[in-house]
Amino acid sequence: MTVATDIVVIGAGPSGLFTVFQAGMLKMRCHVIDSLQIIGGQCTALYPEKPIYDIPAHPKVLASELIELLEAQANPFHPVYHLNQQVQKISQNNDATFTVSTSANKHINCKAIVIAAGCGAFGPNRPPLENLHLYEQKSVFYAVRNKADFANKNIVIAGGGDSAVDWAINLVDTAKKIMLVHRRDKFRCAPDSADKLQQLAKQQKIELVVPYQLHGLTGCDGNLEQVSVIDFNNNIRHLDADCLLAFFGLAMDLGPIAHWGLNLNKNHIVVNQATMQTSQAGIYAVGDIATYSHKLKLILTSFAESATACHDIFKIVFPDQVFHFEYSTSKGVA
Ligand code: FAD
Repeated sequence: MTVATDIVVIGAGPSGLFTVFQAGMLKMRCHVIDSLQIIGGQCTALYPEKPIYDIPAHPKVLASELIELLEAQANPFHPVYHLNQQVQKISQNNDATFTVSTSANKHINCKAIVIAAGCGAFGPNRPPLENLHLYEQKSVFYAVRNKADFANKNIVIAGGGDSAVDWAINLVDTAKKIMLVHRRDKFRCAPDSADKLQQLAKQQKIELVVPYQLHGLTGCDGNLEQVSVIDFNNNIRHLDADCLLAFFGLAMDLGPIAHWGLNLNKNHIVVNQATMQTSQAGIYAVGDIATYSHKLKLILTSFAESATACHDIFKIVFPDQVFHFEYSTSKGVA
């Protein structure tokens, strides 16, 4: 499948999302690719419930709320998101455009690329289960995007950290049944959450399947029917389940970016701070992945970097137009 756009943004973290807004204000369209199932980068994947205090004009904002606001700010420009797929290859075409290819076999032609890839591609740590890929996206998930997707379902949640416990608690009123599988009887989560979990277990609203670990999946056409679990004495239990939510943390990897021929310095992409262009014309980098002298790795820095990059890209996308600077208060959000 091949599509065309002005800019491909690699990474849907805060800097990628704000790049969509800045590009949109200059009438440039974006497709955004991320290896995670949900947008938000580190904010969503690592600390959604933590308050951030150093975003200008927001004395305190939850990381998840910041992402919702950035998504809303980008929405008027209709970005196309390609989630759950990693950008693997970038190639330059004879007419100086680029083709960006993803692990889902999507090919996107564009005039410029903005790499907003943080510390590299995040991916969920997948449990080592046979035939796992047959169920992924259909009944095995590594994130919850919409609670309603789990309404009246029998859900097995696997993992012992904050994500597993928080979602077990959070989905109690939505799901038909929740079974929380962990290889120990102690959970590595915030003390408040541990107390809440024990209360819900006592009220038989959550079944604690401990100490067990995942052993196998059975079902048909990607629809899960049972999750089997095993304990240290090789006792196996078969849990009737419609879906499995596995929370075993995230792996980070600079991955294919290291092989795109860009100048790198200690796993970061070297850019010209005046334009945010990398060593390759037409390819830009912003946010945590971009480096230059005295770089501050902060969200607020990345916002200015996105603006700088998009203003430089304007001349690539519209080579025949003269750029006239206008404040957003004058031109509005069109
Ligand atoms: P990221 O948020 O890392 O997003 C990059 C995205 O790119 C990821 O989703 C990744 O999956 C994707 N990606 C990478 N490679 C590929 C590929 N090849 N194909 C597809 N997708 C790819 N900053 C502050 O300013 N203030 C704070 O208070 C603050 N607190 C923090 C607290 C914690 C616990 C942590 C971990 C970080 C904190 N930070 C804070 C740092 C802040 O989160 C980062 O600076 C910010 O997330 C960087 O944004 P980004 O968009 O550049 O990258």
